[in-house]
Amino acid sequence: MTVQVAQSRMTSEEIARLSKEHTFFSWSVQGAVDPIAVDHAEGVWLFTPEGNRILDFNSQLMSVNIGHGDRRVVDAIVEQANRLQFVQPAFVTEIRARLGEKLTGLLPGDLDKVFFTLGGAEAIENAIKIARQYTGRYKILARYRAYHGATMGAMTLTGDPRRWATEPGLVGVVRYPDTHRWGEPAPRPVEESLRGLEDVIMYEGPHTIAAVFLETIVGTNGILIPPDGYIQGVRELCDRHGILMVADEVMAGFGRTGRWFAIEHWNTVPDLMTMAKGLTSSYLPLGGVAMRRHIAEKFDSMMFYGGLTYSSHPISLAASLATLRVYEEDHLVERAAAMDSVMRAHHERLAAKHPSVGAYRNLGLFGILDLVRSHDPYTPMTNFNATSAEMTAVGRYLREHGVYTMVSNNSIHTNPPLCISEEDLAHGFEVIDGALSIADRAVQG
Ligand code: PLP
Repeated sequence: MTVQVAQSRMTSEEIARLSKEHTFFSWSVQGAVDPIAVDHAEGVWLFTPEGNRILDFNSQLMSVNIGHGDRRVVDAIVEQANRLQFVQPAFVTEIRARLGEKLTGLLPGDLDKVFFTLGGAEAIENAIKIARQYTGRYKILARYRAYHGATMGAMTLTGDPRRWATEPGLVGVVRYPDTHRWGEPAPRPVEESLRGLEDVIMYEGPHTIAAVFLETIVGTNGILIPPDGYIQGVRELCDRHGILMVADEVMAGFGRTGRWFAIEHWNTVPDLMTMAKGLTSSYLPLGGVAMRRHIAEKFDSMMFYGGLTYSSHPISLAASLATLRVYEEDHLVERAAAMDSVMRAHHERLAAKHPSVGAYRNLGLFGILDLVRSHDPYTPMTNFNATSAEMTAVGRYLREHGVYTMVSNNSIHTNPPLCISEEDLAHGFEVIDGALSIADRAVQG
C-alpha cells in the first residue's frame, strides 16, 4: 500500500500560500517572504508547477554542484533505501566502508578519517569539539567576514551580522583580522593579514588556543580569494604554536574552484577540514569533519565526546558515493577549472561595459560581481549589511527574467552548477548584463 501525499497538483500560488501559512523560513521576516515554487529540476534548470524555466545560477546555496535531477544519484538513493534505510552509527554498513575509503582517497595529504554529520554547521560543531579535546585548549580563533553555520557554536564562529541575534554564544571565540576589508576592492597585503593573526595569537597566549578556523575561500561574505602566501602563512603560524588549522570547505569544496578542495590551490593540508553541500550535491543532507592521521590516532585511546543519531546515515552516504562518481565520470572538477577563464571573460566584459561593476572575482565557477556607486573613491552600492533600492531592482530584474542567483549586499553571485554549458553560462550573464543597466544609473562620476 502506498501513502498518498497529494490529491492533485497545486499551483505556484497555492504552494506558496500554504507554505507561508504553516512553515517557517530561514533568515527572513516571515511576512515579507515571496518564495518561488519549484516542481522539478534538470541540470541547471528549475521548473515551476506551471512549467516556467528558471536558470539556477547559484547551484541553490552553492551546493548542487553536479546539477539537478541526476539519475545516477537518484538510483543510488533508491537502491540503498530498498536495501537498508538506517542503523544507528555504532553499527557499520557496506556503504559506510565504501564511502569512507573513497572520500579519504580524494582528500589532501593525510586527512584520512571522517566523522559524518548531517550538514555544514554540525561539521563545524564537531570540529570545535575535536580541536578542544585533541589539544586540551579551549580558545577558537575566527574571522569577521565568515559564515560557518547557524547552530550555536557555528553561529558564534560566524563573524558576519547573522551572528548578532545569537550572541553571546560560545565562550572562548576570538576574532582575528580578515584578508579583505569591507568596502575595499582588493585584499590587504599578505604580511599585514598574517601579522594581525600573529598578534592575536601572542596577545591571547598560544597555549590557550585550540584552533584557527577559516573558510579557505570566503563564500557568502563575498567570494574572497586569499592572496597567495596567506593560507601557507596560517599553516606555518599554527604549526609554530601547536594550534590546529581548520579549513571550512563546506562551500568551496567538491570541485567548485576547479580543484577537489580549494586549499589544494595553495598546496596546504589543514589539520581538520569541514565539508557538506557538494559532498552529496545536496541530494540528501550530509556533512563531515575530516581529520589528519595523527589527530585520529589520539582518539584510538581517548574517548571522543560527540555523537549524532544520524551520523553516517546510509541513504545520505549512498547519495554521496554516487555524487563522487558523477564528479569523476563527467570530469566536473576539470570542467570547473576549464570554465575559470570563460567566467572571467564574462566578468571582464561586464566590467568594461558597466560603470556599476567595481570589482569581480572568480576561481573556477566560484564567482561574484561587486557593484559600486563610484570607483574613486571606491564606494559600494550599499552600506555594510544593507541593501539599496538599486540592488533590490537588480534582484527583481533577474527574477523577472528567469535567473535565480544570490544578490546580497552590493554583490551578484555567479556560482552555477559545474555541469553548465557555455551557452547557458552566456545566457545567465546576458540577463545580468541587462540588470546592470539599472545599477549603472546610480553611478556618479
Ligand atoms: N560553512 C560554510 C562555509 C557555509 O557556507 C555554510 C553554509 O552556507 C556552512 C558552514 C553551514 O552549512 P549548513 O547550512 O549545511 O549547516
